[in-house]
Amino acid sequence: MKLRFLGGTGTVTGSRYLLSDDNHRVLVDCGMYQGVKTLRRRNWAKFPVDPSTIDAVVLTHAHIDHTGYLPALVKQGFTGTIYCTHGTHDLCKVLLPDAGHLQEEDAKYAYRKKFSRHKHPEPLFTVQDAWEALTHFKSQNYHETFEPVKGFEVSFTPAGHILGSACVHVRYKPSNRTVVFSGDVGRQDDLIMRPPEPIQKADVLVCESTYGDRLHGDTDPETELAEIVNTTVGRGGIVLIPSFAVGRAQMLLYAIHKLMREDRIPRLPVFLNSPMAIKATEIFCRYHKEHKLTAQQCGVIDSHTEFVRSVEESIKLDSIRYPCIIVSASGMASGGRVLHHLKTLLPNHRNSVVFAGFQAPGTRGDRMVAGVDKVKIHGEYWPVRAEVHNMNSLSAHGDYNELLQWLEQGSLQPSKVYVTHGEMLASDIMRQRIRDKFGWDAEVPELFQEVEV
Ligand SMILES: [Zn+2]
Repeated sequence: MKLRFLGGTGTVTGSRYLLSDDNHRVLVDCGMYQGVKTLRRRNWAKFPVDPSTIDAVVLTHAHIDHTGYLPALVKQGFTGTIYCTHGTHDLCKVLLPDAGHLQEEDAKYAYRKKFSRHKHPEPLFTVQDAWEALTHFKSQNYHETFEPVKGFEVSFTPAGHILGSACVHVRYKPSNRTVVFSGDVGRQDDLIMRPPEPIQKADVLVCESTYGDRLHGDTDPETELAEIVNTTVGRGGIVLIPSFAVGRAQMLLYAIHKLMREDRIPRLPVFLNSPMAIKATEIFCRYHKEHKLTAQQCGVIDSHTEFVRSVEESIKLDSIRYPCIIVSASGMASGGRVLHHLKTLLPNHRNSVVFAGFQAPGTRGDRMVAGVDKVKIHGEYWPVRAEVHNMNSLSAHGDYNELLQWLEQGSLQPSKVYVTHGEMLASDIMRQRIRDKFGWDAEVPELFQEVEV
């Protein structure tokens, strides 16, 4: 069996790994590139293998950097089945059409502003293409094996990153070799997600390294968040939290309500301004058996949050002048409704902007966290006077210690580890740490490299 790295190398986005033998091709994850323009441009490059020759796709989780290219893949001729967990399937029904909508908006914007090389810029895919891709989905339970194509036996184990997230185990029957893809790996002690399940067997491991060079620190996220909220409220400001719609938004709402209940922060209005995050929250509550929160705790989030659905309501939020908390997507401020709030709230020193997780290089979030004094939104520069925080402790990814701890919990003896899904430096440091701690043969693969497994 061969493994080829079609993405997710040297970057945290665009995860795509191809497994193949002489007769079959199985793609693990089919992500979109995000962040700096040179990466985003890759979304438009010809897919490195003919999509019609891929027999099946298996997904680790629903985030767009792992699934966002699926509608394009189907549009270009993929006719097989897309396998994932039930949670991932339901979340994709929200995320993929939304991604199609953004593509259509971008194409319209490029046409209006005439900055495309093409006279009539086309979207990479449309909402309709996303729904078409969703007809190829088939969901599976955790721990149950299935055979997407003959000879490839696949199963999912919980990865603790977001609802439905999984490590993908592929046993190639002819050689009895097992390749495990970690996908994105969650925290050992997350507020809402259970810890990732240890991996017991892998001949080859493909491991993420988002925080390969960083630790989240000892600060308790609740204490840190409470401090920020109290300081901001003390000076009469508003707390804006750009958040990933799926995963972190639900965790933040839970943390905020917990702090209020424990009287650690005042009882303020809390707005969730992201139609996608609202739908994701509903799905999250429906799957309460798969995470730490009970149905009742989910109900508390529901009854204490003002869900902002329409554009009119969203615009109205910008006229609020009293302390409140606004959670809005996207998490790296690369698009979405949060941009409108940033324009209103950034110029005022009373307000706080709290980023809640990894900021990919090149995104507005990354620049603001780095401390720029102005930021470009909708073609204009806006001064950054609000206090900007980056709470890595809220991340849905384990840091390198947590990753190593997780690897240690299993009974792994891989003959090879490929370190992916990280910026160049993070992946390389992770590779070194794995070698030092376990003595395993670890390598950072190059884009398009193919190896025998
Ligand atoms: Zn993810």
